[in-house]
Amino acid sequence: KPSIVWFRDDLRLADNPALRAALDRDEPVIGLYVLDDESDGVRPLGGAARWWLHGSLASLGERLRERGSVLVLRRGRAAEIVPALVDEVGAGAVFWNRRYGGAERDIDTAVKSRLRDDGITAESFGGSLLHEPWTVRTGGDTPYAVFTPFWRAVQKLPAPRAPLPEPREVPGPGRHPRSDDLDDWRLLPTRPDWAGGLRDTWEPGEPAARARLREFLRDDLGDYDRSRDEPSGEATSRLSPRLRWGEVSPFQVWHEAVEHRGSGAHAESASRFLSELGWREFSWHTLFHFPELATKNWRGEFDTFPWPRLRPSHLRAWQQGRTGVALVDAGMRELWHTGYMHNRVRMVTASFLSKNLLIDWRRGEQWFWDTLVDADGASNPFNWQWIAGSGADAAPYFRVFNPQRQLERFDPHLEYVRRWAPEHAGDEPPEPIVDLADTRRQALDAYDSVKRAA
Ligand code: FAD
Repeated sequence: KPSIVWFRDDLRLADNPALRAALDRDEPVIGLYVLDDESDGVRPLGGAARWWLHGSLASLGERLRERGSVLVLRRGRAAEIVPALVDEVGAGAVFWNRRYGGAERDIDTAVKSRLRDDGITAESFGGSLLHEPWTVRTGGDTPYAVFTPFWRAVQKLPAPRAPLPEPREVPGPGRHPRSDDLDDWRLLPTRPDWAGGLRDTWEPGEPAARARLREFLRDDLGDYDRSRDEPSGEATSRLSPRLRWGEVSPFQVWHEAVEHRGSGAHAESASRFLSELGWREFSWHTLFHFPELATKNWRGEFDTFPWPRLRPSHLRAWQQGRTGVALVDAGMRELWHTGYMHNRVRMVTASFLSKNLLIDWRRGEQWFWDTLVDADGASNPFNWQWIAGSGADAAPYFRVFNPQRQLERFDPHLEYVRRWAPEHAGDEPPEPIVDLADTRRQALDAYDSVKRAA
């Protein structure tokens, strides 16, 4: 009776507890991935994410085949597809690593109870977060709403478990079940093919992810603390899409970074880097406790925020990187071209949209969702709300990023701007589409009305 490993946000063989559990059963293993665009509440993937998923599934399928097994691709409602495959192949067990979004948890719970009712072993594991969200609680037994005490509490917990080794062999079934053809899923854009920049920038899949982790720790970690805020330097790990899709696990990243920690400047850099993983954890824990994170203000009083009527031309200018503000334009074009944007610039572009253009953060969040290769259901809305001021542990609303000052501090030689929006480095740079000082004042007035309503 074969075991099914249901892959989701964990497209890897190493440190995969669900796969480990299946191998321990000593029965043939069948990998399964379900493209679920249909279940209620599951957010359809954005375009850049679909591009990444194609590459990552192709790689995972090949790696499973090389080891003797198979990756079955099916499309539809996961709650129906998983039990149907169990029946079809006569599986005795299904294993998966947990997901933390509200709709996803509902699906997984339903699948688990249905399988168990049928006498099938169904077990889930922690593979995507260093700590399960229900294990980090304040003294008053509530979830943390502020990062610093959250992170302090996490560091007092037992160290994250050691990563599991990569299996050399994964025994497959005698007969391969039917699988969709990955190309038929049309995850890649055709006309227009906007993915050229993504192809030039990224190589999805577990081997490239592991190589990047090693390279970052060897070459860049030492300087991380000093250089991480400079968008031109490419000094950060660029592991975000690999973590998003689980091509590496946070346990692997954590333990390898701790090994590299050493002393002196290196130690500070390593601790800073680990605390960034902490923000990832905090985002996911927040989503676990507040599943509406992408659509609702975490702070309810923000529901009264007087967003002015949307000016579509402003939204379009922002999306296309034609706002006349150098760092914003450079960032938005980097995003469109590569599916990625440096964190500092994400903050500046998000602040500009929500506070200078006074456009509801949800519009920006949706654009990032569609264009980021690392877009995830927690980090994206969490960070948007953090910037907009409506979120957990949000930056105070009155802290409006001044994009000009940010440019002087973090790209003083205009290296980044020259790469992505060269007209801003020329003799006649474009004019901003809005007055930064006026719009800042308007935003603060609007915020005052929220405070009065609270
Ligand atoms: P590094 O500096 O090398 O950090 C290491 C890892 O820590 C990252 O790969 C990521 O997994 C995690 N991390 C770092 N910063 C954050 C953070 N602020 N929040 C959560 N995790 C973090 N990150 C995403 O992974 N997906 C998103 O959809 C996303 N949307 C964002 C939207 C906005 C408006 C902002 C301001 C930030 C967003 N971030 C998001 C966080 C951050 O910008 C990226 O994680 C980071 O730029 C990825 O680059 P890196 O891997 O080189 O980061």
